[in-house]
Amino acid sequence: MRNSQTLNFEPEIISYLKEFHFENLTKEKNIVTMDLNDLFHKSPLGNAILEYIINYPDEGICLLEKCYNEAFWDYNCERINITASIKNIPKELLSKIEIHEINTCHVGKLIEIDGKIKSTKKIVSGITNLALTCTTCGNSAIFKIENPFETSLERTCPKCSQKMFLMQSESKYEDFQELTLISINKEFLSKSTSNIEQEIILKNSPGIYNGIFRIIGIPYLRPNKKTGVFDIIIKGIYAEKIEDEK
Ligand SMILES: [Zn+2]
Repeated sequence: MRNSQTLNFEPEIISYLKEFHFENLTKEKNIVTMDLNDLFHKSPLGNAILEYIINYPDEGICLLEKCYNEAFWDYNCERINITASIKNIPKELLSKIEIHEINTCHVGKLIEIDGKIKSTKKIVSGITNLALTCTTCGNSAIFKIENPFETSLERTCPKCSQKMFLMQSESKYEDFQELTLISINKEFLSKSTSNIEQEIILKNSPGIYNGIFRIIGIPYLRPNKKTGVFDIIIKGIYAEKIEDEK
């Protein structure tokens, strides 16, 4: 069902981009933030496309990137490879959750949470396209890295099984920032004696250090070596400041 559905999505998203985002198609070449509420209301398949993106966000964002690159090619006869970000999940499709409610059922789905920055780290540069070469047989390959925090840069050559080496200038890097959010939910805070924290790894972070933020992201599992269970971490896709800290 997933494949047959998305076949129709591709031409639909491309025609939506051409009709409503002509200006972007002539200039944006790096990170393109797509307004999901706009897509939802203007595309005839908006509802189905959005349900797909919410339930399969990694695939959905790849689809948006592919469609944007195709639409850009149609306009400019130039091949580009953008990184798509997303904002404004339509209210009609969003079930709002709080930090203390995040659990296993949210893993791999698109969610939106609000919280106050408790702590942040400095931006780091993470590899998202890992280019490796084999000095033994000359084979080279590019591996797409979903999460640079949870990956190994060492791979063996699929052709000759020898160690492959990093090609630094051929690899693609993006900004990542580690954040810790705490709840701002008044009801929860009035009943609870403890404050719980949510760890977020924000992709394409502009560098955020204080305030109250709305984060769109995808929860994933990270093994906790001390306890044997999995911590639920959020891969952040988009951050919007909703209030300055009081
Ligand atoms: Zn090799």
